[in-house]
Amino acid sequence: MGSPSRARVARVPDIDLSRCSRCMGCEELCPGVFHFNPAGYMDVAVLDEYPEECVDEAAAKCPEDCISWIDMG
Ligand code: SF4
Repeated sequence: MGSPSRARVARVPDIDLSRCSRCMGCEELCPGVFHFNPAGYMDVAVLDEYPEECVDEAAAKCPEDCISWIDMG
């Protein structure tokens, strides 16, 4: 009984929406993680695991420098 325990996500990508220009560059580089949501802003998918290289590349190439990792402790 009970639900299977999931590995805790160590860190999660975050977008500072106050700086995001919605250029969609992160979605192009890492579409499984970043997407433009119906509310009209960039969003981060809820995943059990995030592809580090892809997120790091999107963060490095974000023209507004607004992608970072949040440590979940
Ligand atoms: S690359 Fe940066 S500025 Fe462009 S949509 Fe993504 S988070 Fe926003």
